[in-house]
Amino acid sequence: MNRSAVLRLIGHHGPLSRADIAKRLGVTAGTVTALTRGLIESGVVRALNMTSSRGGRPAELLGLVGSVAVAVGAKVAEDHIAVVQADLDGTVLASETVAFDAVGANPFTFLADVLEHHVREASKGHVLLGVGLGLPGFEDPYGSGVVQAPLFGWRNMPVGEHLSISLGVPVLVDNDVNTLAVAESLYGVARGIDHFITVTIGRGVGMGLVMDGELYRGGRGAGGEFGHVCVDRNGSLCTCGKRGCLETVVSEPALVAAARRHRYVAKNARADDLVAKAASGHAGVLRLYAEAGTLLGRTVAAASVVLNPLALVIGGEGTRAWPYMGEAFVEAFEADIFPPMRGATDLHVETWDDSKWALGAASLVLRAPFLTPLHDHPTLEQIRNRLDDGAHRALPAHSAQPTHVGRPARTVGAG
Ligand SMILES: [Zn+2]
Repeated sequence: MNRSAVLRLIGHHGPLSRADIAKRLGVTAGTVTALTRGLIESGVVRALNMTSSRGGRPAELLGLVGSVAVAVGAKVAEDHIAVVQADLDGTVLASETVAFDAVGANPFTFLADVLEHHVREASKGHVLLGVGLGLPGFEDPYGSGVVQAPLFGWRNMPVGEHLSISLGVPVLVDNDVNTLAVAESLYGVARGIDHFITVTIGRGVGMGLVMDGELYRGGRGAGGEFGHVCVDRNGSLCTCGKRGCLETVVSEPALVAAARRHRYVAKNARADDLVAKAASGHAGVLRLYAEAGTLLGRTVAAASVVLNPLALVIGGEGTRAWPYMGEAFVEAFEADIFPPMRGATDLHVETWDDSKWALGAASLVLRAPFLTPLHDHPTLEQIRNRLDDGAHRALPAHSAQPTHVGRPARTVGAG
């Protein structure tokens, strides 16, 4: 039992009273007082206003001091990089989007140049914990920074090591949908929910799994490759080499291609054009979206029968077509879910926001102090040490604002 257990608890649940902390950790009030005193002295935790809890005696709540540390996060896409600087409570301090060519010459040098600027800026007046990177691929082995990103043609790329040497700070890399799930878990609609699934639709279809409060990566980091579930053995060829993967049917490019085949849209049409057709009431396009919603609802229900999530968070660029898919999705999901679990899963559909993915990438670093030792590796330890060292440095009084945690992300109701 140590201070990181307390940090982890406050980081996941938001401000808590000492009595709540003692109860949840199963330790005495005296132990909690001693642990939190150290955290308050080091400036990481701060006592918030007295709040009346459940009508009883007012209790003093302890919350994180968000401004004590910052991280840089980047979502790396095929053609652009979205970067944010964010503090410990998920407040975005600066953001930028830069054009990028993931398959071009020297993508890593370019990436390091873009990040270097943000690392320098974020270090001014803050403890910079490190850089987090989210990309459409996976890290294997865990904690190695070695990336497999077939979409970019990156095989066994030591991205983490390369960047941490160039930038001189710890670097964590993960699948972009996983980073989004982390952001939802720390700062979004899934805050405090220990079992939830994030499904993203857009260029592909992705899934991020948080089970028992932790990101679930699977044995080799490739868990949640939901877009590559086979739904039609004789279907179209997928980027992964198989035929008929889910994303060859319901991704935005797949839907656009289907609409072109039916001549519902012009040959050079894009996803925006398809959404516009649906908005104008084009019956054929509406049918395509409804079919996609049904297939997605059935497959997500299959995953949910296995995993029993308490919440589903649907995100990604493709959610702009949700008004035309949502009803069919909900109907199919409810029909296929394990009947005793019907109605037990909350659905949240998020409007598309690139900077949220970048915040997720920063969250990889920002959550490091809250992780259990079970998930430890040397880079996480480096990040924790930077927080400890930095927090003990005298910080200007104006920077020690208490965090107001638990701001829910904007959602639209869909069932
Ligand atoms: Zn595939």
